Order: sequence, then structure tokens, then C-alpha cells
Amino acid sequence: MDKKEQSKKEQSKKGKPNLMFEKKFAFDIWDQATIKKAFDFCEEYKGFLDAAKTERKAVVFAEAAAKKAGFLSIETIGESEKRGFNKPVYSINRGKAIVLARPGSKKISEGMRIALAHIDSPRLDLKIIPLFESEHIAFLKTHYYGGIKKYQWTALPLAMYGTIVKQDGLKIEISIGDKPQDPVFMITDLLPHLSKAQLERKMEEAVPGETLNVVVAGMGTRKKDDKNPVKKNLLALLNKEYGVTEEDFVSADLELVPQGFSRDLGFDRSMIAAYGQDDRVCAYGTLSALFESKSEYPLVVALLDKEEIGSEGVTGATSSFMADFISELIYLENGSHNENYLRDALTLSKAISADVTVAFDPDYTDVFDSGNTARIGAGVVIEKHCGHHGKYDTSEATAEYMAFIRKFLNQNKVNWQTGGMGKIDAGGGGTIAMFLAHYNVDVVDMGPALFSMHAPFEIASKADIYSAYLAYKAFFEAK
Ligand code: MN
Ligand code: MN
Repeated sequence: MDKKEQSKKEQSKKGKPNLMFEKKFAFDIWDQATIKKAFDFCEEYKGFLDAAKTERKAVVFAEAAAKKAGFLSIETIGESEKRGFNKPVYSINRGKAIVLARPGSKKISEGMRIALAHIDSPRLDLKIIPLFESEHIAFLKTHYYGGIKKYQWTALPLAMYGTIVKQDGLKIEISIGDKPQDPVFMITDLLPHLSKAQLERKMEEAVPGETLNVVVAGMGTRKKDDKNPVKKNLLALLNKEYGVTEEDFVSADLELVPQGFSRDLGFDRSMIAAYGQDDRVCAYGTLSALFESKSEYPLVVALLDKEEIGSEGVTGATSSFMADFISELIYLENGSHNENYLRDALTLSKAISADVTVAFDPDYTDVFDSGNTARIGAGVVIEKHCGHHGKYDTSEATAEYMAFIRKFLNQNKVNWQTGGMGKIDAGGGGTIAMFLAHYNVDVVDMGPALFSMHAPFEIASKADIYSAYLAYKAFFEAK
């Protein structure tokens, strides 16, 4: 019997096929026990969001969780343990990206299951020479990172996170603004009374990048002859508190993010409002799935940096870090660094680019193709391709790979839907998927849909957050 006949026969066994393909809202069809599981999962997820407001913090969280789950740092594995890839391991790249792997009953040379997510989010970075004084106020100059709407970041309390590295290597961790007793920082906005000209400008130009200066101090040294008394007073304070000087800003990664923690959204608490859900929602989902899946395949989860600025840079998806790590796994497995093994293993692997997409917003229907846009609450979204205009700057999953994906989602009764980045030529966007495709790995984008993506606070449905986790788990376990 050929495949076509077999498929027909199987269909007739199941009775009438579902002729229409319609979205199903998870909270409409889940039983109470599943809804409770989703809500419980989201409590843990909120804990992750609040602990991991930057990529460095996300790595710290992931490493602690991995250690608790029995993972070993690949760098610390002793020679005697270097026989066989039989323990879960991880590796950290410069404190900003982490890749983790779990052995399966199959060998790496038979292919892996790989999920990638990114842990950087749009924000304001400090410029290399940030501090200046004007009108008896000290400000820090910022340079925005990733795609933001600049006007959303004014008149908003901000917290500062990051690392200052002294030239002798001493690291000073900065984390200020999120504890109840902490001060916060703010960028001013013009009062409406005098905003006539500003309000008539294009939104893109209403708040120029060079005006994203953060108010950080307002007290001077009280010395008559001091030229910049507030700046000087602040530097004295920073020196006393952290032991740093103005030159130390040169070797610092300091980020301003919205102050505040994740919150339930809505009377029914069915959604979450939080900073950085793009893409920490998928980072948390893939990490949880990695710990909890029973897979016969070796599993790899990479939580990467720099996606929001195009994935370039040593800690981004275009770095050789992940491939080098897999190469190390192969070495553990068969004692060889032969590049052909890596190539073969990747070719036989299957991958998910775990990232968020846009949810159809009834306030802005103009930019969406209604039938091809995800709905918030209707489950995890598969995106065959992203990109812009004529499908530029993306990788597109094959029909065969899409069939594999929907099969395991349906078999595991995961709530799923398809999505896309809006109307043709309305804009667009990319993900990490295409960088993995360079290695000849089948890959597709899969993750929850958000409202207000890249805004200081983004909205996701608990149904989609949980569905994404179930989808990653089903992917890891799929034959
Ligand atoms: Mn993303
Ligand atoms: Mn993004």
C-alpha cells in the first residue's frame, strides 16, 4: 500500500475529518486542572522575569537552575569523566549567553533536538562617556539597544543593571531601582502645555535619541569654584559607594530597564504584563522543557544574546560558540574533534527558533492580514518564515518540516496556531532561525504572540506561555 492510500485509510478509521482549520482559544477548551497547571507554571515564570531583567541576570538564573538539575559546567569536567557524553552539561559565554545539553539514549551522531531563544531585550545602554551636568542636574547619556519607540521611555521610572570592570579585572555589579528602598532614574518629557510643536512632529522624531538622557543627581559639592558641582558630587558618591571613577564607565556594561516587576493582567489574571517577555518567555519555556523532557535524542538549549541588534557579536547567534560547544559534546562522545562529525550531527538534527511573534491587535487592524495573524490566547504560534518584503532576511521551513511539527503538536494535544509578522510590505522582522539554517539544520520559529512587543511592558497570555512550554517539551520528545 502506498503512502497516499495508507493516509486515506487512516483517515477513514478516525471518522469524518475536520475540514476547516480554525483557531481554538486554550482557556475555552482546557479543563480546570490544565488551567491550574498553566497558572502555576506562570507563577514560576514571573519569578524568572523578575530575577532576570538583563541577559547577564538570565544567565545567572539559568546556571543556578541547571546546577540544581544536576548539570555540570563543561569546562570543569575532569579527564576521567571525559569518556562519553553521559551527564548533562552547560557552558557560559562571557556571562551573556549559555548553552546547555542533555544526553539521550541515541548518540549525537544520530542528530540532536535543538532549541534556541534569546535573553537580550530592547533597553537603553549607557554611552561610553555618559555623565554630564547641565543646569545643576547630572545626567547619563544613553544609546538605545534594539527596536524601541523612543517616546515610550520618557517619564517612566527606570532601574539600572550591569557590570563595571576595573582595569585590574575586579567586577562591580550594579543593581539599583527594583528594591522598594532603592531610588529610580528617569528621562524627562515636555509638559503638554508647551508641546504644540513636539506633538506635531512625526512620532519617530518626537523624541530624538540624543534626548534620552537620564536624570541621576541634583545635589552639588557646595564649593563655590567647582565648575560641575553636581557631576563632581555624584562622582564622589559613586567612588564612596562602588569605588569607581569616571574612567571606569569605559569598561562597563550598564543598562537601563523599566523599573518594576511582572504583574498579572486583567480581572481574571489570564495574562502577564512584564518587561522583556521577548524573548525571556521562550528562554524560560525551553529551559523548563529541557529539564523535564524524556527524550531519546540528545537535547541542546542555547540562550543567546544580541538578537535584538541582528545577532552579530561574540555572544550572539552568529558567533561560533554554540557550534564549538556541540563539537565539545562530540569530543566527549567519541574522542574526536573531526569537523565532519559536527557537520553530520547538525544535518541530522532538528531545531526550533523559540521566539515571540505579534498578536492581532483589534486597535490596529490595518497592519494585519487577519487570517494569517496569531491571536493572543490561541496557543503557541508556528511561523513558517518571518522576514520582510519578498521574504528577505529569514529562513523558511520546508513543507516536510512543517508536517513534522504539526504532527507532534497534534499528537500531544498542544494548542497551536500559525502566525506572521503583519501585512506584506507593512514592515517585518527576523529571528535567530536563519543563523541556525546556516548549519543545514531544519528550523522553524515557535513561541507565544505578544501585545505591545518591545514596549517597556509587554503582554502575553498565560495560555500561550504554557502552550509554548508544552510545545517545546513535545518537540524534544518527538520521534
Ligand atoms: Mn525576539
Ligand atoms: Mn525582539
